[in-house]
Amino acid sequence: ADAQNNARKQGKLDAKTTHEDSAVAVKKYEKGLDVWIQDEALVWVQATVVGTMKDGRIIVRVGPGQDSVVWVKGGYPQLCGENNFVETEDLTRLNPLTEPAVLHCIHERYKQGEYYTTAGITLVAVNPFSTVPSLYSLAKIHLYSTAQPQDVKELPPHVFAVAQQAFGNLSRGLGSQAIIVSGESGAGKTWTARCLMRYLATTSAGKRLPGQRTPTSIVKIEKRILDSNPILEAFGNAGTVRNHNSSRFGKFIQLQFNRSYHLVGASIQTYLLEKTRVVHQAQGERNYHIFYQLYHGISDEERELLGLGGEEEEYQFEWLPTDESQNDRDEDWSSFAITRQAMTSLGIGKCQQQEIFRLLSAILHLGNIVFNSDAHDDGCPCTIEEDDQRCQQSLRVVCSLLGVNEDALGRCLTYRRITAVPGRRKSVFMKPCKPDECVARRDCLAKLLYARLFDWLVDIINKNICGEQAEWKTFIGLLDVYGFESFPENSLEQLCINYANEKLQQHFVHHFLRAQQEEYEEEMIPWNYCQFVDNKDCLELIEGKISIFALVNEDAVPEELVELITQSGNKFVSSLVGDMVVMGDTTSKKGRTARTVVSKFKASLDKLMHTLESTSPHYIRCIKPNVQSRPGVFDRRHVERQLQACGVLETVNISRLSYPTRLAYPAFLERYGIIMRTAADQATSSRSSVSSLSSLSDENLDTENMDPQDLLRRKNLVAGGTPGTPGRR
Ligand code: ADP
Ligand code: MG
Repeated sequence: ADAQNNARKQGKLDAKTTHEDSAVAVKKYEKGLDVWIQDEALVWVQATVVGTMKDGRIIVRVGPGQDSVVWVKGGYPQLCGENNFVETEDLTRLNPLTEPAVLHCIHERYKQGEYYTTAGITLVAVNPFSTVPSLYSLAKIHLYSTAQPQDVKELPPHVFAVAQQAFGNLSRGLGSQAIIVSGESGAGKTWTARCLMRYLATTSAGKRLPGQRTPTSIVKIEKRILDSNPILEAFGNAGTVRNHNSSRFGKFIQLQFNRSYHLVGASIQTYLLEKTRVVHQAQGERNYHIFYQLYHGISDEERELLGLGGEEEEYQFEWLPTDESQNDRDEDWSSFAITRQAMTSLGIGKCQQQEIFRLLSAILHLGNIVFNSDAHDDGCPCTIEEDDQRCQQSLRVVCSLLGVNEDALGRCLTYRRITAVPGRRKSVFMKPCKPDECVARRDCLAKLLYARLFDWLVDIINKNICGEQAEWKTFIGLLDVYGFESFPENSLEQLCINYANEKLQQHFVHHFLRAQQEEYEEEMIPWNYCQFVDNKDCLELIEGKISIFALVNEDAVPEELVELITQSGNKFVSSLVGDMVVMGDTTSKKGRTARTVVSKFKASLDKLMHTLESTSPHYIRCIKPNVQSRPGVFDRRHVERQLQACGVLETVNISRLSYPTRLAYPAFLERYGIIMRTAADQATSSRSSVSSLSSLSDENLDTENMDPQDLLRRKNLVAGGTPGTPGRR
């Protein structure tokens, strides 16, 4: 984002991305002209030109009653148009199309409670931070789902319109579709993805003739697919300073459709869960929701069984930072009931749920294990603190819940196995760890267990919602990845998160900004090239041959820890690490090369990009109107930055100037060939036929001898145009 903003500051973009006409007009600055001038707080404010100075400065009036006079340097004030901004549902209709006009339009609509605006091929969605019930009512679903394909675009901009267009394309045989939802943390991606999912599940399962009932199997699959949300959110979302329900993993869900375009299943692919959060929560942040749900949601009998304290005593856990009010407890309690219910619906039975809760409790107790640091200073090995009662109690609970031996766990956490190969003889010895190494090993164990549990859950969910391969033909993919973020202190996880966002932006650049323009050039269609910021240098820096990724390799899991878990007496626990690749192994047993976190993540994203390539993409850009997540607050600077980072102005500009319909030559002929008689017969290729067809005008149509009905039909055909898929030929 910063690179893009810098490029813009250096003036690489402005000249070409603003509308040609306005560029000419702005030079004039006649008296009485309405312009936008830059403003520290409001980014852009409206002003009226009073006159121009000889040195090129322009005098303008600003302020509520136009009471202050300001001299501004010539060149940057931008021309105002006479748009009715609230009614401008599609930014391509702005005239002139400038950055201030885009910002102003979105702001005016926001004030009126209009949160969705079309921006060419993308939809801009501003987060209202308050529930707007009528926005997602059943009546709204009905409105969009019953509209004729050609009418959907005429309805007010909405996420449902995007979903309906994707479904419309799919059901017209145009292949798989993808809806890519992006935006910074807290902008509303997950909310949007949930809306899309609910809409598609409800409407596509319900596409049937009046009077017909939805088959039970479809109702079941629809429910299961929707039930995956509360589970994944309980285990993969947490409260952060940016979003009280922040997704800490990326998600790509494919809704699978059969030949008759009924929803028959789904599959979920997740990306890099933030593991650090399990063992470390920065100031003002929380651990994963499920820990709180469990802690506040279980019954007293279960509490004892899980080692979470009896009726009287309440345990304090290091990894469960709480400053919560009673309110949150109630919410956790009800959320826990929903999570449990969803688990049951997805085939995770009572016993398995107990196993999961035992594991979660064990992880919490691991956080209370501390090490004796004094001992190490004297050269003695570090040990688990014996004088700390809470620590000793937690140690016992962990061992009992995980089904491991106390000595074995202690040894694993405080000793490191070193394999040396002097000459050809391999020798193994155990080296005592320093206190901070012990802590790192404890954390590593907790992160390992949680990450494996999360993967296990995703597997189970997939087994229960995925359609038979033979059953489904096409899919609609919904992509909700974690948004761009930057903290005072950032870890490898932030690098990966931001890398994923750059990858997606690259897909957009490739697919739309660059590809569309290159195609025009290739086809020799007259076109003024629009400049845009290409983030390929940024990606090269992260993932190229000599890059940040080439330098970073993350701390893999020590093999002693994996062995400990493998030998656990608890079958559920041991099964979680069944196929782990461990540290020190450069090749696993099957000869595969052990992969680092980064290389695995990169490979999974590459695969995702490959899948997206096979679809027609639709884009939704979520905008966070203020950092405090408050309703009714529109921070213009913050919004402007987001609009710039995702290239909204360039997108609108290209969408506006580009051609809305694309058809391959044979398809064009099939549809319009009826108009011509002789020219088509003489042409040698479909291309030359189209060429002679497009040179036909009304006058040289053979109207004299035509059947009047036929003539009418032909004329309607030409006037009506044809639906096309943007970006696909
Ligand atoms: P992201 O996934 O982009 O980090 P979320 O989708 O979790 O952000 O949204 C953050 C919060 O904003 C949600 O928990 C919800 O409170 C609010 N929110 C987002 N979109 C909407 C919406 N369309 N209507 C009402 N509230 C919303
Ligand atoms: Mg999210």
